[in-house]
Amino acid sequence: MNEVFVCLDCHYLFTRPRELIERHGLEYGYERIVGCPICMGGYTSAYRCIECGEYIDSSYIRIGNFRYHNDCVQQFELGEEI
Ligand SMILES: [Zn+2]
Ligand SMILES: [Zn+2]
Repeated sequence: MNEVFVCLDCHYLFTRPRELIERHGLEYGYERIVGCPICMGGYTSAYRCIECGEYIDSSYIRIGNFRYHNDCVQQFELGEEI
């Protein structure tokens, strides 16, 4: 399975980062830039939420090695659950 990445700027999920060759006007040599396909922003590996199985594209809650969307976790007071 392909690794999935998430953009730190626009939160877009993708499997293939965009790659640009920046020549800086130099005759020889170049710089290779990789980033989000939408905005060229920095990115990081995306994790799946253990509760709903979808990739997490924003802030999340981690318990041990398991990660959850903020919205997939609920906090209750004792006796609140029906
Ligand atoms: Zn982006
Ligand atoms: Zn979730």
